[in-house]
Amino acid sequence: MTAKKAMTIAGSDSGGGAGIQADLKTFQELGVFGTSAITAVTAQNTLGVHGVYPMSADAVEKQIDAVIQDIGLDALKTGMLFSTEIIEAVASKIKEHNITNVIVDPVMIAKGGAPLLQEEAMGALKTSLLPLALVVTPNIPEAEAISGVTIKSVEDKEKAAKVIASFGVKNVLIKGGHDEGNKTIDLLYDGESFYTFTGQRIDTKDTHGTGCTFSAAMTAAIAKGGSVRVAAETAKQFIQAAIEDGINIGNGHGPTNHWA
Ligand code: PLP
Repeated sequence: MTAKKAMTIAGSDSGGGAGIQADLKTFQELGVFGTSAITAVTAQNTLGVHGVYPMSADAVEKQIDAVIQDIGLDALKTGMLFSTEIIEAVASKIKEHNITNVIVDPVMIAKGGAPLLQEEAMGALKTSLLPLALVVTPNIPEAEAISGVTIKSVEDKEKAAKVIASFGVKNVLIKGGHDEGNKTIDLLYDGESFYTFTGQRIDTKDTHGTGCTFSAAMTAAIAKGGSVRVAAETAKQFIQAAIEDGINIGNGHGPTNHWA
């Protein structure tokens, strides 16, 4: 049989809840074959990040080439990229291989506060990677950091989305997981129009890996030929189910999880 293929370029989470592990599990659940390039190994569990061990830019490039030259891909997502060197390496491979279905999850800081992107790498994210992306999927703190806009309302999300789009990314999806109140409103901006996707807040501590899982679900939907709007809808439904089915393991924040 044949299969649609999605690649993730991201960090490894030894605890299995976020990063590469969340991405591959999500691809599998959504019926897409997953491949990966690891940018950094993290020593991590439900309590937090206990160590970060970045790969060399060369090792990241070699993994991308090995996958593309033999297996190929229908969509690509990026997660934790950690350094300017790795961002530049990934951007140059996207250009070299003419990859257009690129979903950028601008991972910056873990819930426990550990930096997953070095501060000085923000410039490279904006100027080298965003212009190559089909979609970028920031949460509210990430959207604020990229745009400089403080977000308190849907109108603020619209303002931030316009600033982020000005860096050259075709679609901006600002996630509402950090919204106040019992509704979460995701906002999609395609350069012309705004669309909102509303969910019900679920009261749980087991939310580790939400962002990775959401962007992986969007990537799988796009790999299967869906539009960005359909992918945003698919991802919203998948993450809602994955938060409802979050697993209570370990002593901290358990992982989101969904057996579709
Ligand atoms: N570890 C890795 C490798 C990640 O890519 C991410 C998020 O993108 C995290 C940890 C953070 O997960 P959380 O925000 O759920 O703590």
